[in-house]
Amino acid sequence: MAHTRIDTLQRAARKGGYALPHFLGGTIEMVVAQIKAAEDCDSPLALGFAPEVFPVVPLEHSLPMIVNAAQRACVPVATQLEHGRDFDTIMRAVQLGVSSVMFDGSDLPFEENIARTREIVKVAHAFGVAVEGELGCVGGSAVTSMPEKESFFTEPESVVEFVERTGVDTLAISFGNVHGRYRGKPCLDLERVRRISALVDIPLVMHGGSGLSASDYRQVIESGISNIHFYTAIASGVWPYINQKAKAAQTIPLYHEIVDWTVDHFYHEAVHVMDILGSTGRASAL
Ligand SMILES: [Zn+2]
Repeated sequence: MAHTRIDTLQRAARKGGYALPHFLGGTIEMVVAQIKAAEDCDSPLALGFAPEVFPVVPLEHSLPMIVNAAQRACVPVATQLEHGRDFDTIMRAVQLGVSSVMFDGSDLPFEENIARTREIVKVAHAFGVAVEGELGCVGGSAVTSMPEKESFFTEPESVVEFVERTGVDTLAISFGNVHGRYRGKPCLDLERVRRISALVDIPLVMHGGSGLSASDYRQVIESGISNIHFYTAIASGVWPYINQKAKAAQTIPLYHEIVDWTVDHFYHEAVHVMDILGSTGRASAL
């Protein structure tokens, strides 16, 4: 039960009126902290790895570590290669045992996005692996921020055709959400989410979940999102936390102390996210 398909957990979240927390898990500190938080909170969890955020960490090292942690967890955990942009990388991830892959063809023309996503779906499904597509374009990345532009928003009219022709299990959509840091107050088009949600049966995913208020998250979930991605806001708190700990200890820390503090930080942040998304206490019912 522990290692689970992402769409299974997203559907349960939608039904239960909460969102599945999705964290980047590129390093062992992040994975240890986030799994412990999920177990302590009795929350389902999704752990992703994004090669663009951790270019020094080989896929062949990170994904087996994440999959192993998911298999041993006491709560259901989905694993995902995030923002895969080419067939070979995605197939390596499938081979390494993840339960979900994302093909990000959001910067491609509509027909090419469909053709390439469909190709991935065909092979991934043969291995029982779920596929997330992206339609519209969620701006920026965790490492480079970009302003949101309405022309990048997902067109509800094209979603039905995209889902039918590709066979994706889950879909990332763009409605004013951006990766990384928001410039100014986020302006989310929730009516667009509601329209898309009414048109298709598959779970909808929000990338760029950092920096919103608790009430924003509630509204996003009520509009039809069942999975929210987190990285930037949590990651930017690591250094201040370590710095404060080192100052209090009045010493130059050894590396294992930095690891301890990092785990501590990611743990508390994950617990907080699970509370806000309403996933706390939901795992045992799955
Ligand atoms: Zn993303």
